[in-house]
Amino acid sequence: MAVLGDKLVPLLGARSAKALASALNIHTVSDLLRHYPRRYAERGQLTDIAGLELGEHATVLARIETTSKRTMRSRRGSILELVITDGTRRITCAFFNQAWREQELRPGKTGLFAGKVTAFRDKLQLANPEYELLESEDQTSTMDEFLGEIIPVYPAAQGMPSWSIARCVRQVLDVLEPKDDPMPAGLLEELKLRSLHDSLRNIHRPESWEWLDAARRRLKWDEAMAIQLVFAQRRHSAVSRPAPACPPSGDGILAAFDGRLPFELTAGQREVGEKIAADLSVEHPMNLLLQGEVGSGKTVVALRAMLQVVDAGRQAAMLAPTEVLAAQHARSLRELLGDLGQAGELGGAENATRVTLLTGSMGAKERKQALLDAASGAAGIVVGTHALIQDTVSFADLGLVVVDEQHRFGVEQRDALRTRGAESTSPHVLVMTATPIPRTVAMTVYGDLEIAALRELPAGRSPISTTVVPVNERPAWLDRAWQRIVEEVGKGHQAYVVCPRIGDEPPSDKSGRRPPLAVLDVAGELAEGPLKALTVGILHGRLPADEKDAVMRAFAAGKVDVLVATTVVEVGVNVPNATAMVIMDADRFGVSQLHQLRGRVGRGDVPGLCLLVTESFDGTSTRERLDAVASTTDGFELSRLDLELRREGDILGAAQSGTRSGLKLLSLLRDEDLIARARKHAQAIITEDPALDGQPGLAQLVASVVDAERAEYLEKT
Ligand code: ADP
Ligand code: MG
Repeated sequence: MAVLGDKLVPLLGARSAKALASALNIHTVSDLLRHYPRRYAERGQLTDIAGLELGEHATVLARIETTSKRTMRSRRGSILELVITDGTRRITCAFFNQAWREQELRPGKTGLFAGKVTAFRDKLQLANPEYELLESEDQTSTMDEFLGEIIPVYPAAQGMPSWSIARCVRQVLDVLEPKDDPMPAGLLEELKLRSLHDSLRNIHRPESWEWLDAARRRLKWDEAMAIQLVFAQRRHSAVSRPAPACPPSGDGILAAFDGRLPFELTAGQREVGEKIAADLSVEHPMNLLLQGEVGSGKTVVALRAMLQVVDAGRQAAMLAPTEVLAAQHARSLRELLGDLGQAGELGGAENATRVTLLTGSMGAKERKQALLDAASGAAGIVVGTHALIQDTVSFADLGLVVVDEQHRFGVEQRDALRTRGAESTSPHVLVMTATPIPRTVAMTVYGDLEIAALRELPAGRSPISTTVVPVNERPAWLDRAWQRIVEEVGKGHQAYVVCPRIGDEPPSDKSGRRPPLAVLDVAGELAEGPLKALTVGILHGRLPADEKDAVMRAFAAGKVDVLVATTVVEVGVNVPNATAMVIMDADRFGVSQLHQLRGRVGRGDVPGLCLLVTESFDGTSTRERLDAVASTTDGFELSRLDLELRREGDILGAAQSGTRSGLKLLSLLRDEDLIARARKHAQAIITEDPALDGQPGLAQLVASVVDAERAEYLEKT
């Protein structure tokens, strides 16, 4: 008999176990049983070919339509070409030097075909696929025996096709010992959920579609519960330490600042501002996620919060994802504050404070001074990268931490932050994001935070028009794109060209796709070619900090016409004179990332232009995502579309949370009810038994999520 923690070698033999390990990183019974089918084929129903994605390893149930054999002149070999169909669309399979397969691959036969989807002469192709033919009704094969009417299709890899995985799963299920169920029996009964043991069997080898549904529901419930229990515990511990109360003073630096604001706050800014002011005033720690479109004016909201904290005699820290952004934040905060930010300097206002920048790449002397400012309390506001929450930086009395652009800032980091207050307090936390998040995602990824949103933009913002440039189908459009850039510059404006890669790293793409375009290559080609007449600058994360700073300043001052950059320009960079952006290999970016990126243009009074350059094919889901980005600039609408278009499980990766590995079946789009219900039950359970002492099964569920998160976090750092 086997249990979930067992290694696979003794159960499956060394050969299969090794193949699973190397192809799919599957080592234990649990790994294998949690490697759920991606979908299910039904005997007699062919797989929709339209949904295939270039570069992916796909498994399709299809019928052979035609076969043909050719000899290759150049390489003295033969190609056996198969056209397989789902009844509507076709895909070719090419076998090199395997003419003998023609014997069994007869037109009319049905089978599973697996391989990497490639393009050959603009047509989709599986090159050298693996296959397993289904026998016709009257004959039975070994495969027919072990595959029921519902055929699981697994995420597979070269050398470990779906049907081999199915065989391994079956072997393991045959010896799996039924163990105690982690869910309390009462809860299972109340929610009419099946046992874990039965559900694991039926997710792999469903007796019927009804059973499959029930199995999925149960396994999803476990996923939802695990995460909601983790969040319930986090919320519980977050309020166990008091926060430093920072009531507003009425006549301090905040009042002085408000008195000289050059614009009226929008209704949203006022409303959120009032909520934050109230939250900061009490000892209950604020944990707020502020969502607001790019340009919606989050910085002012954050600064006003920080000033309230400074008025209360404490400090505020502002964290940015990159040094470039941290430097820019420090600059713009100083600008906004004017003499109110010049404490200790000539011309500083009477009740002024000091804004200190603290980054890893500062010179030793500067850095020492900055550390001293933070530790002594001389700096009311300390701006830096996430390194600020490291232990080496100490604050005199940290009252508030503002995290800008949360999506690179995980739960673990938020936790680390909560221990940074003076005298065992937890600072208030304000997290800001320009990527609107659907409710379920918020509950699942940011379940430890309360949510607020700025929905309107300050008046006077310019529209951005976005166009997809499909270089395979319309190569001339790319030339036109560069012409447009030259025209924009001719009108006195500036432009960004964004590439996915820097270009000095060793090639590492295992997928076999062409490596993404690189800043260093593209900048060179543009400067020599279509943009010869313009000044082209380069910005990426591996430039020395002073060089980055110099480039950014030159661009802001209009001395550089076109900035070729990586996503370091994605967040926060504000150069209103930049009106156009060309994003190369746009399909390599996520929807929200593209939305962020284009938010860099259209910041002045001239309409912005964004061109998404891609080699992706019409009709692929990759292309659909780009079309979605082009179709709307409403971030809330986009985040919903994004959720719909993503494959199961991808969304958490995008949100850059550590919880991804815990979610395999749960759909944040469709399982809203279930997630909400799990949240309610989890809250009730934790209120009663915070450490889950009386619920070992649930405690283990929580541990598995937390461990996975930690592993991912460590990988990232
Ligand atoms: P984001 O939410 O993207 O961080 P910012 O805070 O950078 O947006 O604000 C974008 C620009 O809008 C800044 O130049 C800021 O000074 C300006 N701004 C903010 N609030 C208002 C307002 N209420 N009215 C007019 N302009 C505003
Ligand atoms: Mg901002």
